[in-house]
Amino acid sequence: MPQEYRNFIGGEWVASSSGETIEVRNPADTDEVLGTVPSSTVADVRAAIGAAKDAFPKWAALTGPERGRILYHAANILETQTEEWTVTLTREEGKTRGESQREIVRSIELLRYFAGEAWRVGGDMLPADTPHTLLYSTRVPLGVVAIITPWNFPLSIPVWKIAPALVMGNTVIFKPASATPILAIKLAALLHEAGLPGGVLNVVTGAGGALGDALVTDERIDGVSFTGSYAVGHTLYQSTAPRMTRTHLEMGGKNPVIVAADADLDKAVLTVAQGGFALTGQACTATSRVIVERPVVREFTERFVAAARAWKVGPGLAEGVQMGPAVSKGQRATDLEYVEIARGEGAEVLAGGGAPEGSEYRRGHFVQPTVLANVRPDMRIAQEEVFGPVIGVIEAGDLEEAFAIANNVSYGLTAGIVTNDLRNAIRFAERAEAGMVKVNQGTVGASIQAPFGGFKHSGSGMFREMGKGAVEFFTKIKTVYLDGQ
Ligand code: NAP
Repeated sequence: MPQEYRNFIGGEWVASSSGETIEVRNPADTDEVLGTVPSSTVADVRAAIGAAKDAFPKWAALTGPERGRILYHAANILETQTEEWTVTLTREEGKTRGESQREIVRSIELLRYFAGEAWRVGGDMLPADTPHTLLYSTRVPLGVVAIITPWNFPLSIPVWKIAPALVMGNTVIFKPASATPILAIKLAALLHEAGLPGGVLNVVTGAGGALGDALVTDERIDGVSFTGSYAVGHTLYQSTAPRMTRTHLEMGGKNPVIVAADADLDKAVLTVAQGGFALTGQACTATSRVIVERPVVREFTERFVAAARAWKVGPGLAEGVQMGPAVSKGQRATDLEYVEIARGEGAEVLAGGGAPEGSEYRRGHFVQPTVLANVRPDMRIAQEEVFGPVIGVIEAGDLEEAFAIANNVSYGLTAGIVTNDLRNAIRFAERAEAGMVKVNQGTVGASIQAPFGGFKHSGSGMFREMGKGAVEFFTKIKTVYLDGQ
């Protein structure tokens, strides 16, 4: 019998009021059922909000360091269980063992980083206009916050939202992606074991389309933090607008890497291949367009195609595998559909373009690393997010044209350039319309202490995740005029 996981509401493990469950399967071997999770109802969501509301006053009354100690303890427990979590993550999401392990380590670091913020975050002491007056500002929690996350980083994205929310004194309702709910439930159990009081973090699993509106529009919700697609984020923003609920959205990307004519081409190939094929292209920061200066486009493309063909695809836990399966049947279908759209628009498939052949791939959602040539900037394949290992090569006459192509999309999450000329690097850093710029580094990957987020349709823009921005989102500022007379 597969393990039956439950919602976590008010410190209790509870089934859905519907009695229905959803099966979670291994994307590398769909015969393997990893467990079942509740198919929750709006009533379950309301119960979770009620529990979070009840828990808020006591949790907010603790000092920051008291709250931080619990996160720190959770990090220590997680560190001793790294191998078990690595395997669970790979079996649930499909990424490789190395990718999973890095995500666990990053989650430990995030817990410690935000635990530390409890000791650091404060307000400002200001000069007063009147004598014997203390004039200062302080940060207070928003209250009850809703956190909605995607499946591609099923542990680290929840942690980079939940940890700052908790440490700043908020209570949380967490609705994870339906493809990866087990990691979310394990995270709640971990924090509970570390000493988090009941009701402070509540997890409700089930379809976002059915539960999302009830969650984000409830009048007891004081903040919403969402990561996912532009389509869902855009609708959600309109749902929270009438109540003017503080809302943070991080969404899709169509991230370019420019290869300058002066670049070291081996480095360029590695940068683009890792940026595009790591995590099976399922990163919001994944490279999906490579814009190459004309003098080197032929040479670069030949070497890149060779790298793509040699990229080892397979189940994430198998030795030597560089790329796991797509997360779901639907995501693989999207990847392959975009290859057909590109073909129809006149692109040429130089590597991959389909599902790999062989018995080891039969039961998983595998896709080949795919390179498309003859891609023009106005094609759908050059404009729309695929979220798979499909990279289009676009030729540019010079760097000016490359910059214009890089910016001419509705997204603006991350953008990279490979060059040996510092002037090119600086020009691009100034001109790129993206929240994060990478020079001679892959587009995927971000430091936990640095602001993370996108421009244009990639993010709602007012706040940033990780670093100081996360703490700012989950707090509001109170100014105190304290007259001693
Ligand atoms: P998604 O379909 O937008 O789903 C994201 C989350 O929203 C899931 O938990 C989903 O639940 C939920 N949801 C669905 N419909 C909803 C609704 N009407 N109201 C409220 N919530 C709803 O995205 P995804 O396929 O999970 O993730 C891939 C996307 O995330 C890509 O576009 C990627 O670029 C983006 N992403 C962005 C970042 C970033 O930081 N910028 C990071 C990672 C991923 P269900 O799973 O139950 O549908």
